[in-house]
Amino acid sequence: MLWLALGPFPAMENQVLVIRIKIPNSGAVDWTVHSGPQLLFRDVLDVIGQVLPEATTTAFEYEDEDGDRITVRSDEEMKAMLSYYYSTVMEQQVNGQLIEPLQIFPRACKPPGERNIHGLKVNTRAGPSQHASPVVSDSLPSNSLKKSSAELRKILANGQMNEQDIRYRDTLGHGNGGTVYKAYHVPSGKILAVKVILLDITLELQKQIMSELEILYKCDSSYIIGFYGAFFVENRISICTEFMDGGSLDVYRKIPEHVLGRIAVAVVKGLTYLWSLKILHRDVKPSNMLVNTGGQVKLCDFGVSTQLVNSIAKTYVGTNAYMAPERISGEQYGIHSDVWSLGISFMEPLQLLQCIVDEDSPVLPLGEFSEPFVHFITQCMRKQPRERPAPEELMGHPFIVQFNDGNSTVVSMWVCRALEERRSQQGPP
Ligand code: ATP
Ligand code: MG
Repeated sequence: MLWLALGPFPAMENQVLVIRIKIPNSGAVDWTVHSGPQLLFRDVLDVIGQVLPEATTTAFEYEDEDGDRITVRSDEEMKAMLSYYYSTVMEQQVNGQLIEPLQIFPRACKPPGERNIHGLKVNTRAGPSQHASPVVSDSLPSNSLKKSSAELRKILANGQMNEQDIRYRDTLGHGNGGTVYKAYHVPSGKILAVKVILLDITLELQKQIMSELEILYKCDSSYIIGFYGAFFVENRISICTEFMDGGSLDVYRKIPEHVLGRIAVAVVKGLTYLWSLKILHRDVKPSNMLVNTGGQVKLCDFGVSTQLVNSIAKTYVGTNAYMAPERISGEQYGIHSDVWSLGISFMEPLQLLQCIVDEDSPVLPLGEFSEPFVHFITQCMRKQPRERPAPEELMGHPFIVQFNDGNSTVVSMWVCRALEERRSQQGPP
């Protein structure tokens, strides 16, 4: 058969898909879909929500060739269903039969203890959903449950972002906690960076993280990455931020001092801003300093949510090369610890990393770098936290003062040139 050689569903890509939503005890509603293969599980649940507004639908079923019901609860299972359905359509086409719509059977609500549409554990024995009695499959649940589900959805989605509106493109990188994707936000036409972190945590903790992230809306500084919103889907949180086309500093080698100086000014301003909001960054390092071709430098991944930090820490135990000695030895963390990480971050592009805990603080060789630069880094990396510069001292340091001239063209040109070099090394696409 020729179509097999053309790919999975050659004729289906542009074909209209009709989904027949069967309503328990009262017929069906046909829904015409123009982009069948791209359809997401949540899209189907949303439409079912319109057809059955009184019900809280968490999944639906379809029938296989033997008439057995198969449950769909995720995008993966959706794909399997569509793949099965399109294969039956092929058969009907080949045999010259009428194309049957895809029949689905909404499953309203869930037995106690099962996961809801957000994949969250809902405690049915205590708390606000207590009055919602367990409802068996296919019966309509009470309005109260519908209401609590709507409230839940609001709480668990910060901002205007949601999974359906996002089209994931390239992977920008992996960290210890998750993966960052370049993505397209359909309604606004914006390019985003979306960090997706897998977290198997309770609903309570998810809510706590969401409320802790609220402060990101108040962060308004050109030295801090823009925050667009966050949401939970199943066991993962997606955090949507501004995309920086130059990426993070860790991929740049040997940054000349006059460029590094301007970057340091922006980082010090970003940190000073966070500290003014009583936020400690807690993860100052080159991969959390982002640059763009417009010459902007912005900080990301700062610890606004204690709960998020703790939840990620459970899956990742360890230290990194940028942590202050007092942090490695488990002592109290403060602004001074951020200052240490700032100093060591700017040493790394110079490839002078040394052992930091047991030996004396590293010193940069004079002659190769300017005296103010060496002094700045040495001060930030004093072993005794209190001896490191305070925020206002950082801003007044001669190295920072020297480069605090608002000249973003220097950084812009350097980013553009580095990207150009990278592209030419990679060769034509
Ligand atoms: P860790 O998990 O320890 O913080 P990390 O910072 O390297 O390590 P991620 O925060 O997951 O890991 O980021 C992965 C990579 O994605 C970064 O190194 C950076 O290159 C890229 N990245 C992150 N945020 C953005 C953004 N807003 N714009 C462009 N690239 C980004
Ligand atoms: Mg990071």
